[in-house]
Amino acid sequence: MKRIKTIETVNQVDKTVLISGWVNVRRNMGKIAFLDVRDRWGILQVVAVPAELDEASNEILKDIRPEFVLAIEGVVQARGAKQINKDLATGTVELLAKKITVLSEAETPPFEIDNEERQAKEELRMKYRYLDLRHERMKNNILARDKVINFLRNWLHKQDFVDVQTPILSKSTPEGARDYLVPSRLHNGKFFALPQAPQQYKQLLMIAGLDRYFQIAPCFRDEDARADRSPGEFYQLDMEMSFVTQEDILQLTEQMFTELVKELYPEKKITQTPWPRIDHDEAIKKYGSDKPDLRKDKNDPNELAFAWIINFPLFVEQSEEDKFHGAGDTWAPSHNMFTAPKEEDVHLLDSDPGKARAYQHDLALNGFEVGGGAIRIHDMKIQEKVWDLIEFSDEQKKQFQHYFEAFKYGVPPHGGIAPGLDRLMMILQGEKNLREVTAFPLTTDGRDPMMDSPSEVNQEQLDELGLSIKKK
Ligand code: ASP
Repeated sequence: MKRIKTIETVNQVDKTVLISGWVNVRRNMGKIAFLDVRDRWGILQVVAVPAELDEASNEILKDIRPEFVLAIEGVVQARGAKQINKDLATGTVELLAKKITVLSEAETPPFEIDNEERQAKEELRMKYRYLDLRHERMKNNILARDKVINFLRNWLHKQDFVDVQTPILSKSTPEGARDYLVPSRLHNGKFFALPQAPQQYKQLLMIAGLDRYFQIAPCFRDEDARADRSPGEFYQLDMEMSFVTQEDILQLTEQMFTELVKELYPEKKITQTPWPRIDHDEAIKKYGSDKPDLRKDKNDPNELAFAWIINFPLFVEQSEEDKFHGAGDTWAPSHNMFTAPKEEDVHLLDSDPGKARAYQHDLALNGFEVGGGAIRIHDMKIQEKVWDLIEFSDEQKKQFQHYFEAFKYGVPPHGGIAPGLDRLMMILQGEKNLREVTAFPLTTDGRDPMMDSPSEVNQEQLDELGLSIKKK
């Protein structure tokens, strides 16, 4: 017999079916056992009555405990009006078991799967993440993330975007954050870097003529975690378009997310449409933040207040504690070094760079920055001015030789944006932490207690790479 989903039993009253799943709860009432069996689609009540079961199943039944994996053949029965359970999607039926097979036994889990209290034991949840993901809320977050990504993929394809996978083994360039480095075995003493974002690749794809690119892109930054920033890795919906204005990028992004909310989160309301656009200076003056929370009711879990922040300064003055990785002492790019100044401000690069405004756009949602992007510099002369202003050394410029080279061969005006998927999902799912919407996240201090990583490697591996460890 072919296994059906628990949810499908509601349409199979009086039929003999086979279901499989985990024992969520077992309750004994005299000789009868009630097994709540859980699969991805929900929970189904299975009634095990000794007289209805074959002999082997009766024997097996005695030992069945929570989290055992079972296959159960039985007859679907409609529940009487009083027995209907409105909290279960299968609450109008139950399965009268005829034959039970144990597919896999289970030890008692280190925490109760169904107990919200487990929240407190963060380390334990991370160590047994696969059990944590059995919890309904966690499972729903993972399924919602899949739906959102699927929606975005389809939507962007309809708008002529091409999904391109850019390299994970990339090159270390001074782009702002600290790189994760990967030592090369074939080229001892040399290193790959994991991409902080596919920024250069997506711009090179525009030079290649692909016109519109997107990717659900893993990004790696070796930074300390904050509540709204994962340590190590995170995902962006990375996008880039050729022959566009900033206005085009803002409108497309706004339309995409508005339709997403309408289709996947119909219970949510967007506070203001079109989304407000606020100059960076004004945001700082009025709200003291460049990611203001514009919700009318901050306690309403269904309110989404999107806002664009625009007209950023091209540069920010470097503060001692916020040193831009690898750049000079005075100016650091507000967004990144590829961001174009507004045409009317280009002359300020020579006279008063601090006053030059940029074609940068940040997307704020309920007080979080959920994306940033820009129109890019496509004129190498301006790019060189920006590098000079952030005091790039010749050595640093050499690291961008490929970029410099590519710009000799016809660059379309282009720009893009990269909404952060983890943050977006956190807000849409009403979660307080990025880990709740990530299947296998790192802890705040950058470890994975489940895999026990990062881990030491053996001497042979180090020798092959020509590395030795200097103990700190
Ligand atoms: N690559 C940029 C970032 O990671 C986003 C963009 O400008 O498209 O912030």
